[in-house]
Amino acid sequence: MINLKTDEEVELIRQSSLLVSKTLAEVAKNLTLGTNGLKLDRIAEEFIRDNGAVPAFKGYKGFPNTLCISKNDAVVHGIPDAKDYIPGDIVSVDTGVVMNGYYGDSAYTFCMGEVNDNIKKLIGVTKKSLMLGLSKAIVGNRVGDVSQAIQHYCEKENSYSCVRELVGHGIGKNLHEAPEVPNYGNRGTGPKLLKNMVIAIEPMVNFGKRSIYTATDNWTILTKDRLPSAHFEHTIAVSESYPIILTTFEWIEEEIKTNRDIVYID
Ligand code: MG
Ligand code: MG
Repeated sequence: MINLKTDEEVELIRQSSLLVSKTLAEVAKNLTLGTNGLKLDRIAEEFIRDNGAVPAFKGYKGFPNTLCISKNDAVVHGIPDAKDYIPGDIVSVDTGVVMNGYYGDSAYTFCMGEVNDNIKKLIGVTKKSLMLGLSKAIVGNRVGDVSQAIQHYCEKENSYSCVRELVGHGIGKNLHEAPEVPNYGNRGTGPKLLKNMVIAIEPMVNFGKRSIYTATDNWTILTKDRLPSAHFEHTIAVSESYPIILTTFEWIEEEIKTNRDIVYID
């Protein structure tokens, strides 16, 4: 069942979502060559708790950390480790919080130092596909309109592959609610988008083929062909006229632009 939120609930999800965005900006500020995922995870957890919230991922089905950090051929659900970042790494960071009983969820992929132009393009295309997808999230459309927009841009226009096994989702009092929001599909199919549905849209886009597998840590999802993958995510609310983006990349991108170790990609 898809549960529609009241305006008050959308506002509470916005507060949680904005804290997620601030947390990712804090990550962006501290993400440098020579740092590592475990250090960033500690910073993020402390930041979330200092702001009166609880990390949503830590302990979720046994996940050990606050951040999912998925590097290079890792798609999503990577466990932060102590390996220092080196030039050429692409680092996707996904996090969520719960505050006042409501969740927020967002992800961003960062480029460390000099990254190959082909990989920069993958990251730009993935971010743009999120915006194209969420632009379809208005009353009168269906989930498939969002899915099709993402898939068409990534696969047809740019020859990348959208991961099928993992999808976006409704969000609210739970981290994952109905409906599922796949990154592939057909226009005019799937559940109708209704006013005050809140969903997390999150394209996971592979440079090569779409096949994935789970690492021996039982969490990290990796590309089978070992080629890189990118991931961006916003939490949004559906309205009649335009999608209301509850998370924001603005603060993250301000940090990237003043961080000499991260390359900004439009
Ligand atoms: Mg997420
Ligand atoms: Mg999500």
